Amino acid sequence: MSTDLSNDFKETVRGRTDIVALIGESVALSSRSGGREFAGLCPFHDDHDPSLRVYPDRQSYRCWVCNAGGDCFTWVMEQDRVEFREALEILAQRANVPIPARGRGQGGGQGNDNRVGLLEVLQWAENLFHQTLLQDPAAAGAREYLASRQFSAETIGRFRLGYHPNDWDWLQAKARGKFPPAQLLAARLIGERNGGGGYYDNFVDRLLFPIRNERGQPVGFGGRVLPGGNDDHGKYWNSPESPVFHKSRLVYGLPYAREAIKDSHTAIVVEGYTDCIALHQAGVANAVASLGTALTELQVATVKRFARSVVLVFDGDAAGQREAERAITRFLAQDVDLRVLTLENGQDPADFLQEHSAEAFQQLAASAPEAWEYKFRAARGRYGMESVDARQRVIEEMLELLANAPNMSRNLREGILLGDLAFRTRVNETQIRERYQEVRGRQRNRGAAGQERETWSEDAARLLNGKPTLDDRLESEIIEILFADPEQGARVREDVAADAIGNTPLRRILQTCYELMNEQIAPSFERVMNRLEDGELKRLAVWIDEQARSKDIEAKLRDEGVESETDCPHFLRRSLNLLRRRREEQSGGPETDDLSVRPDGAHQMDAAAEARLRRLTEFHQRRATKRAEV
Ligand SMILES: [Zn+2]
Repeated sequence: MSTDLSNDFKETVRGRTDIVALIGESVALSSRSGGREFAGLCPFHDDHDPSLRVYPDRQSYRCWVCNAGGDCFTWVMEQDRVEFREALEILAQRANVPIPARGRGQGGGQGNDNRVGLLEVLQWAENLFHQTLLQDPAAAGAREYLASRQFSAETIGRFRLGYHPNDWDWLQAKARGKFPPAQLLAARLIGERNGGGGYYDNFVDRLLFPIRNERGQPVGFGGRVLPGGNDDHGKYWNSPESPVFHKSRLVYGLPYAREAIKDSHTAIVVEGYTDCIALHQAGVANAVASLGTALTELQVATVKRFARSVVLVFDGDAAGQREAERAITRFLAQDVDLRVLTLENGQDPADFLQEHSAEAFQQLAASAPEAWEYKFRAARGRYGMESVDARQRVIEEMLELLANAPNMSRNLREGILLGDLAFRTRVNETQIRERYQEVRGRQRNRGAAGQERETWSEDAARLLNGKPTLDDRLESEIIEILFADPEQGARVREDVAADAIGNTPLRRILQTCYELMNEQIAPSFERVMNRLEDGELKRLAVWIDEQARSKDIEAKLRDEGVESETDCPHFLRRSLNLLRRRREEQSGGPETDDLSVRPDGAHQMDAAAEARLRRLTEFHQRRATKRAEV
């Protein structure tokens, strides 16, 4: 890496960054040993006891469980998953240290994707949208709508709400001479017209809610159609994913709510931006919102780092009730005091606050039933508890819930909840447990993933602890390639059946890639993470993605060229061939001598090895033909 940024500059940035404040933006830290160290939940592993330590005198941090550790730069590198240089620029921006001109952008190529550049253009757009909302005659309808929702001028200013006029080229015209179209595109502020005929603005004629990262910088927008506007693309439309905008991880309003969540140990999670803002305006300062979609496990994990108790608020209608029960299944096993609140009479939080005070809302939230209790009440409401048959139905439904919750087996909660169910239904606990084993067995067979789970941890640990077998490495590399270039999905699937992967968690991740492809979705890292529910699989997926980055597979796919007849990148072909050869060896193929796979995973093949590979491929084809003839 070129070091055109001087050491002085690095030291200035380091000196102006307090690591306790920096880490405190994403983790609730508590002081230990009279302020000589701070402790919090580690964001890099599934932490239940605070194992992360931050040392202000050394300006360093370390996790006692997963060994993550370093200084302010490593923290940003690991959290934002960026290279040192970008971490430096991000921290410089945060500390208001001007970045030396010749150090920026590092030559044309990567300029448009550079995070600091993206954050800059997003900040510029936020200001422009906000000023337009306040002053532009074209925004009169948007201002009327906000007035009808009784949003005060102060609230509109604080949340920096904005408006994009009804003109498909407006933002591009405003950006002329400041930001090139490629940069607006990378920030997902504009889209590309089909057939390469220029660009169009996103968010046309929408009221805009800036979505901020943990440092409070705008990274994307939620756009709401105004009453009577064109809602062909839905009432709400969010920015697509970008290098700085990760929907599954971000929580709307967190920078505004963080302190209140820390103080009250409670986070209130609502479904919409307007509800969240209405709560803040009324004085409920610990409210955040999901990004218009069902809450993800990563979002709950983010909130969990500040709150002991998480209250999920759903609208009081039938849809809200269904959403609530779905969320309970997903989060039951998480180590957090999860409560569920549905408002009466089909109200949403904003409706409620028109009639009641903020205190009344806080009281309601404080008395919200635990998730398990909520589900039990719902089941009891459906079936009653009088007859034997009704009690049996309630028990069945609760056991199904427990058996379906990811990560639940061998979790302490499982035993507590089973005991509780026995108590509530007045049925002998042993009988409940026996029935539970049956329900679990049925679930397992359904997923055909029964004993698999037992070997998961071992298989995953070999990779995570840096002791992979050759097979592990070859199999992992296939997924690394998919993460580096999801467009290679079809080629990989042609060659590698998911069943051919021996490492169980890797097989599950590859299956997930193929499932996405069945839905015409490219299996990118983000998509796969969205789809995976198991914490261990997610950790492994993150590791795979890191491997892909550190080996710079993207560059290898690009730079080593493609096969002329198939367009398949040479690098991919080699990986596929190596994996196939291992399968041949294991099923008694023609040659078993070493193919000089280096332990670092790089493939340095001499001519002889290439020749052997070719023979091997021919053997494989012959055998496949023979099989087809039989
Ligand atoms: Zn850790």
